[in-house]
Amino acid sequence: MKDIRTLSREDLKSYFQSIGESPFRAKQVYEWLWNKNKHSFEEMTNLSKKLRAHLTKDFVILPLAVDRLQKSKDGTIKNGVKLHDGLLVESVLIPTKKRTTACISSQVGCSLNCQFCATARLKRMRNLEIAEIIDQVALIDRQSKIYFNRPLTNIVFMGMGEPLMNYKNVVGAIRKITRPEGMGKAERRITVSTSGIPKMIKMLAEEDLKVKLALSLHSAVEKTRNEIMPFSVRFSLEKIMESLQYWHSKVKSKITFEYCIWKGINDREEDIKALVNYCKRVPSKVNLIRYNSIGEGKFDHRNLYAEERYAEVLEKNNITVMVRKSRGNDIDAACGQLANRSAESLN
Ligand code: SAH
Repeated sequence: MKDIRTLSREDLKSYFQSIGESPFRAKQVYEWLWNKNKHSFEEMTNLSKKLRAHLTKDFVILPLAVDRLQKSKDGTIKNGVKLHDGLLVESVLIPTKKRTTACISSQVGCSLNCQFCATARLKRMRNLEIAEIIDQVALIDRQSKIYFNRPLTNIVFMGMGEPLMNYKNVVGAIRKITRPEGMGKAERRITVSTSGIPKMIKMLAEEDLKVKLALSLHSAVEKTRNEIMPFSVRFSLEKIMESLQYWHSKVKSKITFEYCIWKGINDREEDIKALVNYCKRVPSKVNLIRYNSIGEGKFDHRNLYAEERYAEVLEKNNITVMVRKSRGNDIDAACGQLANRSAESLN
């Protein structure tokens, strides 16, 4: 049977007309599905019993269930979420004093091969549907209200998968999250994080969306980046820069570069210099992310001196730099640690 959430608002209107109902029903049902995130026709109390029965006969609403919930000492909550076909993804709630951020997955597994990322060890199984992305957001929103007494404030596409490789559904979901008749959240509080696919960055810039863009850079030295993110041999740093400049010309917001520092990989003065030069070419800031171990030996060494040096040199060059604390790593919920458990259950 067809999932009703694959129907657009126009499709819904035609459906109601075809069964002799007022097209106004489409508005009501749309609201139950996309604003209130209801998963059963029975809960749609402004529809007649007869109509609810009709809908139940014609459609399903595919479920998404929390398979495992883990809470970190720091308040971070990681949800292992089971999709209707039994596959698992992870969605993380990250609280700070004033904010609740939802870290959302866009694919089951990932087709890219970043050497330092746990999700890369999974094959890409499939893209998530719009409804599956929305359900994760709605889930974290509910949890934020329950545990922190406030709705979620920010959304980052930094969970499993490469959002720009599931472009259509990610953009479709963002529209549903931001439209007033959907969830009504602010566009500027949504960040799409990408490992850098120039064509798709340009395409996203063309949408009328004011979302933020983050780029997982990790090295501004071509050879090094190609070693630690081997897929990137297809996308030169020059092409990526061109797409970022295009992004900025359209969307006008600063780009965030995500960056981990590893001893013996990107801790030399010339690595810092390359980053500074790269940053200077487009309005940007740098998030220094603490690496979360996934048990890959060569990434396991820190260089405290280099971390300080990076911050110092960036600041000296008037580039905003933030040192991100790692959140939720006691429950494997931190950046790059997602999917350890789903990996086990797939094997
Ligand atoms: N595919 C997207 C989004 C998912 S990864 C992207 O690459 O941006 C989210 C962020 O976590 C990225 O910046 C990624 O580089 C970073 N990351 C991956 N593995 C990590 C690890 N083990 N420790 C810290 N950050 C990691």
